[in-house]
Amino acid sequence: MFEVKEIDESILAQNPVIERMSKYNHEQLLFCNDNDTGLKAIIAVHNTTCGPALGGTRMWNYNNQNEALQDVLRLSRGMTYKNAISGLNLGGGKAVIIGDARSQKSEALFRRFGKFVDSLGGKYITAEDVGINPKDMTYVNMETNHVVGLPGKSGDPSPVTAYGVYQGMKAAAKIQFGSDSLSGKKVAVQGVGHVGEYLVSHLKDEGAEIYISDIHEQTLKHVAETYGATVVGLDDIYDIDMDIYAPCALGATVNDDTLNKLKCSIIAGAANNQLANEDIHGVAVLERGMIYVPDFMINAGGVINCYAEVKGLSSEWAHDKASEIYNTTLNILNRSRENNIPTYQIANQMAEERIEAIGKVKLPF
Ligand code: NAD
Repeated sequence: MFEVKEIDESILAQNPVIERMSKYNHEQLLFCNDNDTGLKAIIAVHNTTCGPALGGTRMWNYNNQNEALQDVLRLSRGMTYKNAISGLNLGGGKAVIIGDARSQKSEALFRRFGKFVDSLGGKYITAEDVGINPKDMTYVNMETNHVVGLPGKSGDPSPVTAYGVYQGMKAAAKIQFGSDSLSGKKVAVQGVGHVGEYLVSHLKDEGAEIYISDIHEQTLKHVAETYGATVVGLDDIYDIDMDIYAPCALGATVNDDTLNKLKCSIIAGAANNQLANEDIHGVAVLERGMIYVPDFMINAGGVINCYAEVKGLSSEWAHDKASEIYNTTLNILNRSRENNIPTYQIANQMAEERIEAIGKVKLPF
């Protein structure tokens, strides 16, 4: 569906940006510049077949504009797949503000950004992402209503994200161990911040044996004491005898190095981009008989929470919708086993199937 289209080579030579959009069929890019406020941003709308493109705004000190462009193209496409596989009537989008989040923020910059978001007339809905806090979003909201996750609205998405991860983990256990009970299972949670702590709480309630790591000493101490979890070293977490590895901090922790150490038979966590290289490590986990639950599907609770706000739905609705991650995980894992295809490929296929189906609904008959 997002295959490369043949386009005039002379146009490509003049405009590599369009070539890059064309590679994964991005619909629209909005380059935003304002000399007075110092705003430099890119808003990417990847696909709006299922609905308005929703995805957060990231503020990052990119080394150059190419990096920013690459990031926004990659992230917006990821949102299309995440929203589609989660059954939400949303497309995929993302925005990046180029700049140092510690020193280059101002009310004027975010309000100017809000005007650019508003100029898209609701085709793009924004939210917080890395480098952005609720106060920044309040400024954006002064200029546009197309913002979710504001203070006093749907609130911190982490509990819903953690609940979804927990559901996906149970479904993976059902396939791998024959029962979805996590009682007595050894689960290693890497990163016990917002999502990680809520996940640990579910695991504790179910009687799992919990191991945790975190770079932040106080967080580690708090979670260990509150939930009776065992602390392990930052690098040791890959070596311990465990059933389930739950990355909830960083991306790319499933790589050549760690795969030689990991003794788990399930990888299920909240972090984005867990596979260092999808094509290599997605296949490698399958060959080792491990189950990898695709990150963009299992961590969709956050966007489900945002969707509830967009549609005026309750937090109970968001919780119930996140429960569906259990069945979606079962579907992916069964299809993966039947066809011996890596789980991330099945998840991508399922997202594309839904976009194709919904695209038919909207055909102008
Ligand atoms: P967070 O910043 O609250 O927590 C991350 C934790 O990881 C922190 O406590 C941090 O100290 C720790 N950490 C950092 N580097 C580490 C390392 N090398 N080893 C161990 N711990 C380390 O973030 P969060 O909101 O809990 O999100 C966790 C992950 O889930 C992120 O990758 C995020 O992108 C992803 N995610 C979060 C949500 C959400 O709703 N918050 C939704 C989807 C995806």
